[in-house]
Amino acid sequence: MAHVVLKDLVKTYGGFKAVNDVSLTVNDGEFVALVGPSGCGKTTTLNLVAGLIPITSGDIVIGDRVVNDLDPKDRDIAMVFQNYALYPQKSVYKNLAFPLQMRKLPRDEIDKKVKEAARVLDMTHLLERKPRELSGGQQQRVALGRALVRDPAVFLMDEPLSNLDAKLRVQMRSEIKRFHQDLKATIVYVTHDQLEAVTMADKMAVMNGGLLQQYDSPAQVFAHPVNMFVASFIGSPAMSLIPLEASTANGNTVLTGAEGWSLELSPRNAQKVAGATTRKVVLGARHSTIKLHKSAVAGSVPARAYTVEPTGDVTFVQALLSGAIVNVSVPPNIAIAPDEQIWLEFDQERMHLFDGETEMAFQ
Ligand code: ATP
Repeated sequence: MAHVVLKDLVKTYGGFKAVNDVSLTVNDGEFVALVGPSGCGKTTTLNLVAGLIPITSGDIVIGDRVVNDLDPKDRDIAMVFQNYALYPQKSVYKNLAFPLQMRKLPRDEIDKKVKEAARVLDMTHLLERKPRELSGGQQQRVALGRALVRDPAVFLMDEPLSNLDAKLRVQMRSEIKRFHQDLKATIVYVTHDQLEAVTMADKMAVMNGGLLQQYDSPAQVFAHPVNMFVASFIGSPAMSLIPLEASTANGNTVLTGAEGWSLELSPRNAQKVAGATTRKVVLGARHSTIKLHKSAVAGSVPARAYTVEPTGDVTFVQALLSGAIVNVSVPPNIAIAPDEQIWLEFDQERMHLFDGETEMAFQ
């Protein structure tokens, strides 16, 4: 396996920067997810690494070679696409063998590699079938197998699970994760599904508008999002972002909501916003860090229930606070009615504070 380095990578279409100065390193054996909303540039980035489209500027290194000008076939990569791209007339065996025949490998070596890939992916019993005789998940496994037999330095995967139904997607998610662990493969994996990225990847590269927003482990991105975009994109339900106004009096810093209530910040949080050049502060809180009360308690702020969604295990309440929607989760036995007056208590240790002007996190 090999590492991959993107250095100041740019791809423009006319005047439009689809990939805007992206730099990152995928270490040898690492599983990296490129994640972000539709149009953020993740597929373009993957296609640049694959060599399917030419770069505008920057460098791509795979292993110890700069591959900027190499054809895809010379980059020592294997791609897995969402549409599987299997040959419909060929058996699974022949689908797996085909790329090796193209490389003119001896027949017995091809046979060995195909059978080994089939064993790794648990599809030995499917080798004689045609793709149409397979389920979606089995077809995806053949597509993985076809990448595997090529023994590439890097696997590039573009939304490989998006054509599968929800249940199968979860199952294949763990299969690909297992595939990565067993082979210690270097994988660059594109998905728009933040949950897929969080559950599978060693690191995630969160993109928006062609720009790399944050590149770190899922745990780190979840716990310390660098800006409001990352904060709201990672995690489900999304982190609530509440626009407030900061002020300091008598040495205490308080955040004031549009309704006129105020919340005194802990010394640590007050210190974070102390250097701010703006009074506009956005409070970010995940649903699990907010307590809902039916009457006022010290440190809580008044809000109004908007919608109530029981899911069985837990009930999600969306509340209105300072013009924002706040997601809170409560045990199913707590009855809340829409429009009911409630009080929210934010965990100061786990709240996030963002600059309302730049949208960057206060560190
Ligand atoms: P999706 O999840 O929808 O596939 P993505 O993050 O993979 O989105 P890209 O396909 O990388 O996004 O596209 C990034 C941007 O570049 C988009 O705005 C897209 O419209 C634009 N783009 C991509 N290919 C071309 C092209 N050949 N010509 C012009 N613009 C393009």
